[in-house]
Amino acid sequence: SWLLGCSLLLLLLTTGCFVLMLKTILRQKRLSDIKNDFINNMTHELKTPISTITAAVEALLHFGALKDPRKTEEYLHISQNNLQRLSDLVEKVLNLAVEEKQELEFHKEPVSLAEMVSDLAADHRIKSAKTVIFNMHIPFGTTVQVDRMHFGNVLNNLIDNAIKYSYDRVTISFDFRKEPEGWQLTVSDNGIGIPKAYQTSVFDRFFRVPTGDLHQVKGFGLGLAYVRQVVEKHGGSVSLASEPGKGSAFVLKF
Ligand code: ADP
Repeated sequence: SWLLGCSLLLLLLTTGCFVLMLKTILRQKRLSDIKNDFINNMTHELKTPISTITAAVEALLHFGALKDPRKTEEYLHISQNNLQRLSDLVEKVLNLAVEEKQELEFHKEPVSLAEMVSDLAADHRIKSAKTVIFNMHIPFGTTVQVDRMHFGNVLNNLIDNAIKYSYDRVTISFDFRKEPEGWQLTVSDNGIGIPKAYQTSVFDRFFRVPTGDLHQVKGFGLGLAYVRQVVEKHGGSVSLASEPGKGSAFVLKF
């Protein structure tokens, strides 16, 4: 019976080792899939701001925009915004490379919401191949307490998505509501929408809705995970209402 005990123990140990090995292999496989997707998508994400900056600089240098002070300022602004976007992207990737449970640093300050949204709108209108219409329902002078960079990235992600997952003519609306217990901002689009079954998963890291011809769009599946992370760090919550073929509305509550 001593021998039987030993054999059983050995068998258990071997099975344990085997399961552990299998788990490691599966994890490695998942990581390598993610890595491959990541590299493919990264190329696209880097190319977009770079091509916008290139177009702005070309307009300044070769198409006479430099002679018009208003155009000069506009194109410099666009370049600045996109350089910021590149640097945020690099930051995001570096954070991700270091740790999955990255700790973001937040510095809240009063931010003029209408100004932030119109800056982003101008930026997207010029670089998007689609016709994008922005409807802003944000009272003039509305100020919110947020981390400027992270909150700007949140809105940027939502606008990017609204344009990416839409048909040729895109309408994006921003609706601000002040409530006794806080404030809320709804960002809605008239795009392809998100089927009910995926409406919670879209906030998970690396999740992308696996359907549709229109979905030949590059992405990491990280944008909305970041949106949720930032909103929650501000003590808020994000929810989604969407109907396939009609559009999506992201509600940020603080
Ligand atoms: P990415 O756009 O990089 O794939 P996100 O985390 O931003 O990653 O979005 C996750 C998924 O949710 C997207 O792949 C897309 O399928 C879906 N999605 C996000 N925003 C919208 C939207 N406004 N309309 C339709 N689908 C969307």
